Amino acid sequence: MSSAADTLTETPLGGPTLPQERRLVTSIPGPRSQELLDRKADAVAAGVGHTAPVQAVAAGGGVIVDADGNSLIDLGSGIAVTTIGNAHPKVVAAVQAQVAQFTHTCFMIAPYDSYVSVAEALNRITPGDHAKKSALFNSGAEAVENAVKIARKYTGKQAVVAFDHGYHGRTNLTMALTAKSMPYKSGFGPFASEIYRAPLSYPYRDGLDGGLAAKKAISMIEKQVGADNLAAIIIEPIQGEGGFIVPADGFLPALVEWCRANDVVFIADEIQTGFARTGEMFASDLFGIVPDLITTAKGIAGGLPLAAVTGRSEIMDASHAGGLGGTYGGNPIACAAALAAIDVFENDGMLERAREIEAVLKGRLEDLQAADPRVGDVRGHGAMIAAEFVDPATGEPDAVLTAAVAKASIAQGVIVLTCGTYGNVIRFLPPLSITDDLLHEGMDVVAAALAAS
Ligand SMILES: *Cc1c(COP(=O)(O)O)cnc(C)c1O
Repeated sequence: MSSAADTLTETPLGGPTLPQERRLVTSIPGPRSQELLDRKADAVAAGVGHTAPVQAVAAGGGVIVDADGNSLIDLGSGIAVTTIGNAHPKVVAAVQAQVAQFTHTCFMIAPYDSYVSVAEALNRITPGDHAKKSALFNSGAEAVENAVKIARKYTGKQAVVAFDHGYHGRTNLTMALTAKSMPYKSGFGPFASEIYRAPLSYPYRDGLDGGLAAKKAISMIEKQVGADNLAAIIIEPIQGEGGFIVPADGFLPALVEWCRANDVVFIADEIQTGFARTGEMFASDLFGIVPDLITTAKGIAGGLPLAAVTGRSEIMDASHAGGLGGTYGGNPIACAAALAAIDVFENDGMLERAREIEAVLKGRLEDLQAADPRVGDVRGHGAMIAAEFVDPATGEPDAVLTAAVAKASIAQGVIVLTCGTYGNVIRFLPPLSITDDLLHEGMDVVAAALAAS
């Protein structure tokens, strides 16, 4: 039982050569996975949770293989990170070459090519053809923190508006920007000051068109904050953790227009939506908006930790030298991986693949919705699709059902993630490297789990 997994860990290039199949040879968790989970409970802080009770030993294409030899279908991509798979050959080759060259000099001490090349690539592929600059960091939260620093420095103002259901990270400033208390904020205050929250466009629940929803948000901002005090508004063009909420048409353009008229920096947090995930290179492209600043991370580097702030040169240049940066920001190995990943995003048909996945996922979920009124809403773009589960009688969120479906799916070898302010959304974030067969099989399992719940 163990030998299969042992061989797989030695498979050259890891991912793409793994058999692309769902295979259960033990119950989940199997004994080897359970052993690791017991050690985790003893050694790792309780606040660091996990979704699937497995010990991962290999991953690639559309599967994660555990230490017991089970092969699970991956519909989560490590939270939208492994968009091009867990071990894309171009990323593996770029990383191997770079790690043999040098691992670190600190870009602020001795600059190197790959950092500058990543900045050039981001300046080129992000929305808008104005002059842009970039700065690189390690995590999404760090990028958001820096976008806020940059906007404050540029405008000389302090307030920041975030939105209902928003998620921006777990550091102190980003906890303040994040909406949901449990589990992200509860007990971790006090939070950063000068953060305000505006209502979001949430068509399934507010029934407002984009123009009216924007009017409501702008009125709140003008009355409760005031443009004279406001440095920036920050918003995910499609919300991630908040429930894959797609705003009504016109909502985002109206906010951008108001920001332009009021000397307020518009920051699009594209950490989850960026890099082909939604069927466009960036979700802002779906809505025809051009943000002043854009934060990226997750999918940027094929699984390696890297994040960025990209935006208008005059805003990005507002900070004095030494005001931005960090020891590891733009690590050369992560930059090499990002250059390889961006090459794949631009040249290997990834936008088209995301749209194909959208057609499969939406087709399957809309079929479920037609047959089962507990599926209240199906929404999303590209390989970022969600189903919202409700009590059909009242329309109230049904978090218990959602958790049951997710748990049963994982037990049957399909990794799915839940999200949403009310915990009643299952989000589908498969890697673009998944096969259609696996995608369908994964949806068969989810459908069976729903029928049995
Ligand atoms: C994940 C996420 C973050 C935080 O990124 P980390 O790398 O976990 O710090 C911020 N914003 C959005 C939209 C995210 O999805």
